[in-house]
Amino acid sequence: MSNKIGRNDPCWCGSGIKYKKCHLGRHEQEPIKRYEAAKELRQAFSRETCSAPSAKTHVCSKKIARAHTVPRSSSLQTIARDGHVYGFIPSFENLDRNQGRLVPELIGINRASTFTGFCTVHDDAIFAPIEKTDFVGTAEQCFLLAYRAQAREYYTKHGMASLSGLRRQIDKGRPLNQQLEIQSFVNALEIGANAGVRDSKIYKMKFDEILCSSDFRDVRAYIIALQGPPPVMGSGGFFPEEDFQGVKLQDVAMHKGTPDVVTVSSFASGGHGYVVLSWLQQCDGSCLPFVRSLHNIPDEDLAPAILRLLFQHIENVFMMPDWWEELPDATRRSLIDRMACAVDLFTDRRDGAMLTKDGLQCEPWGVMGRRFVGC
Ligand SMILES: [Zn+2]
Ligand SMILES: [Zn+2]
Repeated sequence: MSNKIGRNDPCWCGSGIKYKKCHLGRHEQEPIKRYEAAKELRQAFSRETCSAPSAKTHVCSKKIARAHTVPRSSSLQTIARDGHVYGFIPSFENLDRNQGRLVPELIGINRASTFTGFCTVHDDAIFAPIEKTDFVGTAEQCFLLAYRAQAREYYTKHGMASLSGLRRQIDKGRPLNQQLEIQSFVNALEIGANAGVRDSKIYKMKFDEILCSSDFRDVRAYIIALQGPPPVMGSGGFFPEEDFQGVKLQDVAMHKGTPDVVTVSSFASGGHGYVVLSWLQQCDGSCLPFVRSLHNIPDEDLAPAILRLLFQHIENVFMMPDWWEELPDATRRSLIDRMACAVDLFTDRRDGAMLTKDGLQCEPWGVMGRRFVGC
């Protein structure tokens, strides 16, 4: 292959760069150093930006907030022990220590779950109805839960995509046959990363439109109210592919249009706990049957179902230390395995849904009530 390609031709790997500046002599190039990759990884997920729509009247402040993505900044305090909760830190160090799997570590709540995706002015103004008033389940509050989760997805997907240059260079110093293998793998990842950016952008624009119009008629939600704070908190968005009974809902891999997205938020407010699933009317097709299948699960089986959902689909989850440490070993292992599917440092791949009932065991959570909003 290398003898047919001209130095100034586009490289065979698909990078769009001239061959002489890309794969020419790659087998002799110095491999990427681990600390360099780690640094680039950190930077990709700590860039400071304000995601507020430009149509919002306030002017951005220069200061970017370390905003909590678990709604209600005080939420994590209710499950912390000495100011710490367990969480998954996606780093090479963590993976190295635990033979390639992410194992939860104690994290200070001021570090847990924050992202630098809004300036202080907009963070304060946009989320006041959720941060400064108790959660009562208005359409606006349910929307804001989804809005923040969606903004974080958009931010994270961009971080993923920005690692493209790094991904393309991991074959430095390898022989040609390995280069070919690695680049074809990387090309598949790029398709996924680009689809992630495209889909999250479409939803971000739609969510911005609703935020600016304050018209929440298209907002749908399912609220599970708990007697006390849930021992696992977090928030994020995902494409429901299968419901809790294993029924197929949509095939994301087929890439036919934009997949239906649902967001989930688990948090505490006013002494109680809430798990809220929010989505837009246009996503009813997959989201309604998904949520109905959750609604059909009896109260006593609800906690394991929610755990399956959070650990399977959201990497942004935090656990109450005593609760986590006292779980049966098998349950802890099974949850870590689910997280291993959800988290992949370079790809953000989320493998099959697998939400159907398994042997997962935990104490039931006191359910106070469940209701639908907007449907
Ligand atoms: Zn190349
Ligand atoms: Zn701003």
